[in-house]
Amino acid sequence: MTADVKVRKPDPSSPAMRTGDAPVRMYGVSKSYLPGTWALQNVSLEVGRGEFVFLTGASGAGKTTLLKLLFAAERPDEGQILVLGRNIARLGGGGVPALRRRVGVVFQDFKLLTRRTVEENVGVALDVVGCPRRETRSRVFNALRQVGLHDRRKHPPLALSGGEQQRVAVARALVGEPEILLADEPTGNLDSQLSTGIIDLMMAAADRGTAVIVATHDRSLLARSGRRILHLENGRIVEPVGDSGAGA
Ligand code: ADP
Repeated sequence: MTADVKVRKPDPSSPAMRTGDAPVRMYGVSKSYLPGTWALQNVSLEVGRGEFVFLTGASGAGKTTLLKLLFAAERPDEGQILVLGRNIARLGGGGVPALRRRVGVVFQDFKLLTRRTVEENVGVALDVVGCPRRETRSRVFNALRQVGLHDRRKHPPLALSGGEQQRVAVARALVGEPEILLADEPTGNLDSQLSTGIIDLMMAAADRGTAVIVATHDRSLLARSGRRILHLENGRIVEPVGDSGAGA
C-alpha cells in the first residue's frame, strides 16, 4: 500500500482555511432518536480545509450520529450544520445529492454493488460526475493501487474478504478527491499494518486539502498520529486533545 500521491499542501492563507469558512461547521447541535435521550448534545466544532481529525469515544458515544448528520443522513433536532458553506437544514431536493458528490464517506455498512466488479464500484462516483472514461480508469487503478487491491480490480466484491472490501470502500471514498472525507471505523476489520496504511492515505488526502474526520476507538492509531482528537462522551465533546484551534 502506498501514499505516493502528489501533495498539494493547503494554503493557510486561503479563505477556506480561516475559521468561519471551514468546510465542516456545527453549532449547538443536538440529536435525539428517542424522547428523553440524547445521542448528541450541544456539539459545536469546525474542521478546516486540510485538517485531519480523529473522533473518539466509547461505543454509543455518538460518533456515527455526528458523521451521519454531516452527510445529511440524519437531521439534527437543534443547532446548525454548515457543510461546504451550505446550511443542510435548507437543502432542497437536489441539494443533498449535489453536496454528497463533494463528500467521500466510509461508513460501517459500506455497501458495495455486488453485481459490479471492484473497479466499477470504485468508479461509480466518477461516472456520476461525467468523468471521461480513460481518466476514470486511471484514477480507479491508482486508488486501488493505493489500498493494495489493483490486481483484484476485475473481481466481484463478494470474492474479497471483509477487510479487502473495506479497503475497496476506502478507495471509492478517496477516488473523487472529495473536499470532505468522513470515515466511521475505517480500519475496523484490518490488521495494524493495513490500518496504518489506510490512515496514512487519509492523512495524505488531508495534506492535499481535504477536511478529514475519522471515527475510531483504536487507541494505537491515535497515540502516534499527533493529529487533533475530538473525544465524545455521552453525546458531548469533552476536552479536545491536540486541538489545532478550530474550536470544539
Ligand atoms: P457510536 O458511533 O459512538 O457508537 P452512535 O452515534 O451509533 O454512537 O449512537 C449514539 C446513541 O444513539 C446510542 O445510545 C445509540 O444507541 C443511539 N442510536 C443511534 N442510532 C439510533 C437509531 N437509529 N435509533 C435509536 N437510537 C439510536
